[in-house]
Amino acid sequence: MKSLNLKALYEFTGCVVDKILVEMIGVQVKMRRDRRCKPRCPGCEVVLDEVREGEICVFDLPVADKTAVWVTLPAVQGRCPRCGELSTPRPPEVHPTRNATWRLMRLVAAWASVCPASDVASMFEIGASTVRRYETDVLEADLPEPDLDGLEVLLVDEKSVRKGHGYVTVVLNGRTGELLHMAEGKKKESLESFLATLTREQKDSIRAVCIDRNGAYRSVLAEQLPKAEIVHDRFHIMANLNSAIDEVRRSEWRSAKAEGKKVIKGSRYLLMMNRENLDESGRDRLLEITRLNEKLSMAYILKEDFRAIYTHSPSVRSARARMRRWHDAVLASGIEPMIRFARGVMRDLKEVTAYFKHRVTSGRIEAFNNQIARLIHRACGMTNLKHLFLKMRAQSLKQI
Ligand SMILES: [Zn+2]
Repeated sequence: MKSLNLKALYEFTGCVVDKILVEMIGVQVKMRRDRRCKPRCPGCEVVLDEVREGEICVFDLPVADKTAVWVTLPAVQGRCPRCGELSTPRPPEVHPTRNATWRLMRLVAAWASVCPASDVASMFEIGASTVRRYETDVLEADLPEPDLDGLEVLLVDEKSVRKGHGYVTVVLNGRTGELLHMAEGKKKESLESFLATLTREQKDSIRAVCIDRNGAYRSVLAEQLPKAEIVHDRFHIMANLNSAIDEVRRSEWRSAKAEGKKVIKGSRYLLMMNRENLDESGRDRLLEITRLNEKLSMAYILKEDFRAIYTHSPSVRSARARMRRWHDAVLASGIEPMIRFARGVMRDLKEVTAYFKHRVTSGRIEAFNNQIARLIHRACGMTNLKHLFLKMRAQSLKQI
């Protein structure tokens, strides 16, 4: 048995190890051609007519305490006798254009999936942008294509991913949470570009699409997926209702006297939070606010009643009846922002209550929104949309 067989660590197709040099600054692995292998045209796989022989140098995995390991490989340029193309094929272990081996890039990408690019950069003594490039390439090569067969429910949402830039439209599989699509641009075109990739059969399997209340996606959906029902997402509806409450709070604050101002001040989250999530002091404060301010008290009770419809309605029918009664109660309250919200609910009653048929949980959208926010925060503002999409897709697949 040979005690030192480092050569076995460097098996590159078409090459054999000539020598391994351990130096101060790193390890150099010199390869030479395996004459039994002939370089072939990447397109036609025909043996090339050799034009010239050179050398390429690529980085590989660290060894022991040597971070820099570079491999020099023979590179044969040749012309294809069939298609006439000139090419310099590389072994499959090496990335076709970057100066790195796939195994190095995969290790860098694995670290980048759990820590910030800047940390990985210093670990491997490369630039942070190189880390992101490696990660993008690896995810692109290794992630499976989105599974578009048998989709039942889609979640469509809009996200702002860059400061000062436009929005991106994201499409998730509503049952599994898999991220299927993410594209910049106007809502309509962005969603259309996704739907255009689906076959007739794939479109027909979609029974419901969950969107926020903004109308921009509607016309595309009516055109492209006429059989799918539109569901207004519970998460966005509750967010709208909370903004209505906040409007009431602000106008009450403006008209309150000094004492009342003190009570209302800082009550924003108390009023928005679900009652069961408040601690004791929160509940006491809420009681104080609602005792002192009749309008806020009313608005809060109406909000909790609306929320209860979601938890306690067993069917579309009962949800519709409850929402109609709720709408009447809101009208009777005379609170303007709440009335506007309730009118909106009545206008879109079909879409709002379609939730009770398809039971699309907004949890997936919420989880996705939190993840994307964390990623963007960690990257100090994401600049490359493709990189962000691949990272988000990888995370969404992990959870399935
Ligand atoms: Zn060829």
